[in-house]
Amino acid sequence: MAQASHQQRGDILIVDDTPENLQVLNQMLTQQGYRVRPALNGALALRAAQATPPDLVLLDIRMPDIDGYEVCRRLKAAPETADTPVIFLSALDDLQDKLLGFRAGGVDYITKPFQAEEVLSRVETQLKLYWQRRQIEALREQDRQYYDHLSQLKDQFLRTASHDMKNPLSNIMNAILLLERHGHMDDEQGQYFINSIKRSTAQIRNLINDLLDLARIETGLALMVEPVSLNSLLRLCYEDALLPAQQAGIHLHLTPCPGNPQIRVDPQRMQQVLQNLLSNAIKYSSPGSSVMLEASLLEESIAITVSDEGLGIPENALPHIFESFYRVDSPGHLQVGGTGLGLAIARSIVEQHKGSLHVQSRLGEGSSFTVMLPRSPNP
Ligand code: ADP
Repeated sequence: MAQASHQQRGDILIVDDTPENLQVLNQMLTQQGYRVRPALNGALALRAAQATPPDLVLLDIRMPDIDGYEVCRRLKAAPETADTPVIFLSALDDLQDKLLGFRAGGVDYITKPFQAEEVLSRVETQLKLYWQRRQIEALREQDRQYYDHLSQLKDQFLRTASHDMKNPLSNIMNAILLLERHGHMDDEQGQYFINSIKRSTAQIRNLINDLLDLARIETGLALMVEPVSLNSLLRLCYEDALLPAQQAGIHLHLTPCPGNPQIRVDPQRMQQVLQNLLSNAIKYSSPGSSVMLEASLLEESIAITVSDEGLGIPENALPHIFESFYRVDSPGHLQVGGTGLGLAIARSIVEQHKGSLHVQSRLGEGSSFTVMLPRSPNP
């Protein structure tokens, strides 16, 4: 749309075989800030319109070769100018002429000799209507894309739900059958079956929770933003991660942010992000290594980093790890349970806070994930 960034108020193509008429209209409209392109006949006008579709056409009816009605029909037949408003110009104030003009696709009609105010007001009205129509179309297109996205999400949800739940479900069924055959739960073998059922159930529950979260976040989450003490938030996350870290033999360290700034976030959601990063750091690390949670104050942002000395991520996998359902395809990574949704969810949440989530990693040396939040965010 030529409404655009320059100061011109619209791009108008004027078609008239009388040079004086072109000059009068050109001057009148240029003075008002319109961009004007004059054309002396229908063929030139059609070529100009095809090269750069104008926002409006002022079109003389009586012209040699191709008359105005035909030019209008051809403009309406070409997809790039089908919606461009055409105002007819004619010396005749004849009803039949006007009807033919409207039938050919014109939206208005101006009689010569031109009255400046009339021309300007008709041009302005038609341009306004045209731009409103374009805006409505753009909104409709946005809606269409949004619903397409929802539909893809639903398909993905159903595909993953059915595929990734099959394994744990058949594990549960097998364990129940074996347990039945075995006959008791209180010896070592019985407990083994029970634990297998518990593990698989937890796997299905995690998958459902992640899928629901992803759907909720991707369809637009209402954040409950409030001022929060950054260090209190970090401490909460640290304390939650202490037990799983201990169980995995990992040393967990917290380095609070100097100055303990307040941040404006949805505390529950930001906690979810950090818990996810900490849980990954612990999951993909070996016993005896360390996981660090730290924050620092930069000029315009706050950086919260979770780093580990674990498996690391191969370079070719780094561009994909924030994609939904992506898991690094290596035996070390795949033997750890996961849905491939945690980082996609974390990134969506951080971006809704107008922040960004970054990763640095070296295979075999460890990874570090950094949440960057604006210092005075306004999410
Ligand atoms: P998952 O539930 O599989 O952990 P995520 O979306 O949280 O899903 O992570 C995607 C993938 O990125 C993981 O499957 C894992 O391969 C890799 N990954 C994430 N965090 C780390 C980490 N700290 N160290 C090594 N690999 C990681």
